[in-house]
Amino acid sequence: SEPVLRASGLHKTYRGGMFSRGGAVRAVAGVDLELHAGETLGIVGESGCGKSTLARMLVGLERPDQGEVTFRGRPFFTRGGVPRDIRRRVQMVFQDPLTSLNPRMTVHDIVAEPLRVHRLSPNARAMRDRVGELLSLVGLSADRMNRFPYEFSGGQRQRIGIARALATEPDVIVCDEPVSALDMSVQAQVVNLFAELQRTLGVALVFIAHDLAVVRHVSHRVGVMYLGRLAEVGPAAGVYEAPAHPYTMALLSAAPVPKPQLRGRSRILLAGDPPSPVAPPPGCRFHTRCWKATERCAEVEPALEAVGDHYAACHYAERA
Ligand code: SF4
Ligand code: MG
Repeated sequence: SEPVLRASGLHKTYRGGMFSRGGAVRAVAGVDLELHAGETLGIVGESGCGKSTLARMLVGLERPDQGEVTFRGRPFFTRGGVPRDIRRRVQMVFQDPLTSLNPRMTVHDIVAEPLRVHRLSPNARAMRDRVGELLSLVGLSADRMNRFPYEFSGGQRQRIGIARALATEPDVIVCDEPVSALDMSVQAQVVNLFAELQRTLGVALVFIAHDLAVVRHVSHRVGVMYLGRLAEVGPAAGVYEAPAHPYTMALLSAAPVPKPQLRGRSRILLAGDPPSPVAPPPGCRFHTRCWKATERCAEVEPALEAVGDHYAACHYAERA
């Protein structure tokens, strides 16, 4: 079936950023992906790997330098901007609910804003009813809609952000680290809410996290990003049970409970931080930290190729 969202050949470079020292930061450097109706695609990677830039392009908040995003086959980036009906159908949940919710607006006004922008409520009464419905969908009491964001806990504020994203009945929600700013104890509750909303509403999710463990139980497929590119992508079971890319193996072996099949070998420790995205290494971007690297890896960039039921960008990908 036709994917609901497709990204092809996405590139995005920033100039003069805080960390760039005058160089160009190659935030996203050639990403292709597909999202099917009703599925969750988890995207994982260390900070600075381009996850947030990718997220912003997938909802049309950022225009790629190269490449295209399509919604049900229709391009996002037309001369007149992203078409209104596409903006309505593709929503975003941000990392930090404290900075993404206007502190001077009531919860009612925050959740009602997309209803207003897209003219989805005929009058104030209908709008209040709809806001109440949306709040109960995310487990908040409609009685509190006249309160302000600071009167809620971090987890509740993220629920408000989710209610706002649901207001337009989207087909897709892109969530950029939606639980990273929350206490550990609250993270699981919010992840479970996403899983439940997906079951009941059938919305497709792109769920971005910096940790493979966070997306494990909500993702049908998982993509692992490294320095602006996908290192590995495939069905969650395949990626977790039989990782093909050394970077995925390292991420899994660093997890609190290493995969049984990785237990035999010594724990894989990644040397140092990821290299700067201003000057990514030539050849395979991971070769400066990879224990399997050969001369070829420093010269030839590996393409994402099929390995069993998933895809990996590695000259020496491991087959299950
Ligand atoms: Fe490591 Fe080479 Fe594979 Fe890159 S291509 S992940 S450096 S083995
Ligand atoms: Mg980010």
